[in-house]
Amino acid sequence: MKDLVVQKYGGTSVGTVEKIKRVARRIVAQVDAGKQVVVVVSAMGDSTDELVNLAYEINPTPPSREMDVLLATGEQVSIALLAMAIQTIGYKVISLTGAQCGIKTSDVHKRARISEIDTNRLEKELNDSKIVIVAGFQGIDENHEITTLGRGGSDTSAVALAAALRADCCEIYTDVDGVYDADPRIVPDAKKIDEISYQEVLEMASLGAGVLHPRSVELAEKYGLPLVVRSSFNNNPGTVIKNFENNNEKHVIKEDFDMEKVLVRGIALDENIAKISILEVPDKPGIAFQLFSSLASANIHVDMIVQNVNRTSVNDISFTVNLDELPEAVEVSQKFAFEVNAQKVAFDQGIAKLSVIGTGIVANTEIASKFFEALFEMGINIQTISTSEIKMSCLIDKERAKEAMVNIHKKFEL
Ligand code: ADP
Ligand code: ASP
Ligand code: MG
Repeated sequence: MKDLVVQKYGGTSVGTVEKIKRVARRIVAQVDAGKQVVVVVSAMGDSTDELVNLAYEINPTPPSREMDVLLATGEQVSIALLAMAIQTIGYKVISLTGAQCGIKTSDVHKRARISEIDTNRLEKELNDSKIVIVAGFQGIDENHEITTLGRGGSDTSAVALAAALRADCCEIYTDVDGVYDADPRIVPDAKKIDEISYQEVLEMASLGAGVLHPRSVELAEKYGLPLVVRSSFNNNPGTVIKNFENNNEKHVIKEDFDMEKVLVRGIALDENIAKISILEVPDKPGIAFQLFSSLASANIHVDMIVQNVNRTSVNDISFTVNLDELPEAVEVSQKFAFEVNAQKVAFDQGIAKLSVIGTGIVANTEIASKFFEALFEMGINIQTISTSEIKMSCLIDKERAKEAMVNIHKKFEL
């Protein structure tokens, strides 16, 4: 049996005809090296954003089902063109949509989860010596409806396919050289990380480091599948994401004099969030349960939750959601506010979440103090703070978030 590689090329890597041709040459080089290749591709350049804009021009609340039918076309364009490019160089190839290659998902439109992959078709094509090009980000539910996995979801398609096909590794090709300690497009001094654990990169991805879809990291960890993030524009080695058998390293670091430097692993910024506040909610048991269970039933992911006690009988409840889920979250909140007789629902899209990530952060007050000091020096107000074992996040004004990220990267001397 030949070695099997699963590679994923993101939108910027297939953004133009020239780039598609270049990716085609990279892929056939793997075949020449004796490998079987399955490739997952995203939609060309910003075409998914363009499709989203078209939808909103037609309908301010586009139905999720039709949104999936629309967005799935982006990837269908790139798989067909890439297959044509490979065929032109003289290699056997076939493109497959998510449905054609057996990617089955839950029935939640716009954020479906992969339930299983029926690999029969894929194996048949591979046995027929073809390169298989698969549309990322999409699948099909039990009722044969087209679903998508959430923005950035092609990474998750690739990892799921690699796991299902028992590949040795999944390679994610993108427009930067790997995972950095901060977004290299915002922080010019950001440093590339050569090796990092699933947990640390998962935390960075979940906190807004857009280089990987968080669910792809979860899946890779679950199946013990090493991930490599590399540039599609050069041959630099990239970042390897894997499990570190020997965690003793951490204990050694804790004894170290210069411990802070090592503790902070990276900084992440999430500008794709919004804050919803429900004002003057009656202060009684069961209220938070009612609100957050309605949001959960609508499959809305909620992040930082704060309840302020204003007066004796009423509270304000605020929480953050993903910007993509804001319209639905506001709708659910308004229904709740009406039911419990709250005063009103307000929302704010001008916020961003800035986070410092690293093992042992919560136990280290130095880190908190440096983080807050840096924001204070810039005159930036902190709206909400949240911490966990391995991260500390602050909600701040979106307008100054990038500048804050650069300064905090400096402050921690990363
Ligand atoms: P693709 O189209 O290949 O999926 P994405 O735009 O989704 O590419 O992800 C790559 C981008 O992620 C980079 O251009 C970079 O700006 C951004 N990014 C954010 N945080 C990080 C980080 N910590 N390391 C590397 N890239 C990051
Ligand atoms: N094309 C989709 C998006 O832009 C999926 C992806 O790129 O991973 O979100
Ligand atoms: Mg991406």
